[in-house]
Amino acid sequence: MGDGIFERLVSLLYPRRCIICQKLVESDILHCGGCQCGPVDNNRLLEKLTHPLIAEIAVPFAYGKDISQAVLAMKQYRDRRMTDYYTDAAAEKLRKAYGIDGITCIPISRQALIRRGFNHSEVFARALGIKLGIPYLDGLLIRSGNIRQRNLDRGDRFVNAAAAYRLGKRADIIKGKHILLADDVITTGATVLACCGCLASAGAAAVSVAAICSTTPNA
Ligand SMILES: [Zn+2]
Repeated sequence: MGDGIFERLVSLLYPRRCIICQKLVESDILHCGGCQCGPVDNNRLLEKLTHPLIAEIAVPFAYGKDISQAVLAMKQYRDRRMTDYYTDAAAEKLRKAYGIDGITCIPISRQALIRRGFNHSEVFARALGIKLGIPYLDGLLIRSGNIRQRNLDRGDRFVNAAAAYRLGKRADIIKGKHILLADDVITTGATVLACCGCLASAGAAAVSVAAICSTTPNA
């Protein structure tokens, strides 16, 4: 936190941060050795995210103090090494990639896009698409509301999410397709279920979900 522009540039050019906790490391190794992130029981997560369209959920890591630093870093700057690491981990968890027609991501609001310059979930989704040989589909979903989910309690998250997402201008291509929906962190599942509802309303045949980490349930 509080890194200056120079330090960020150096870390971009010469990435020497732990892939999970983002602590500076002495050489270009992936892990600092002092942090770790546990696995997630994807079957239990699938039971929690009950929607008839959801075919599979692929989440490699449990959300914790260490990996939260990685997600924060992904929101702030693009790090190819970090993106590759989480993309590989998510791809390994996805058992039924065959038959998926296209990948898209949970959209962020226009205001957030202007503020951050990019959507880190889109970076993750595009990399995952390349890794799996699945085309990235743009313009399927739009985030219209700008109330941050993290400031709301569980019940309000579902209400807010349901109102915040709608179909984009290319939604007509969703009909009959199996869509892979990419997210960064799954907490209550409100966001995923809201977007899943949008895809269902456009006639999607199935939805698979990939994310970097989830708060619950752990394996
Ligand atoms: Zn670390």
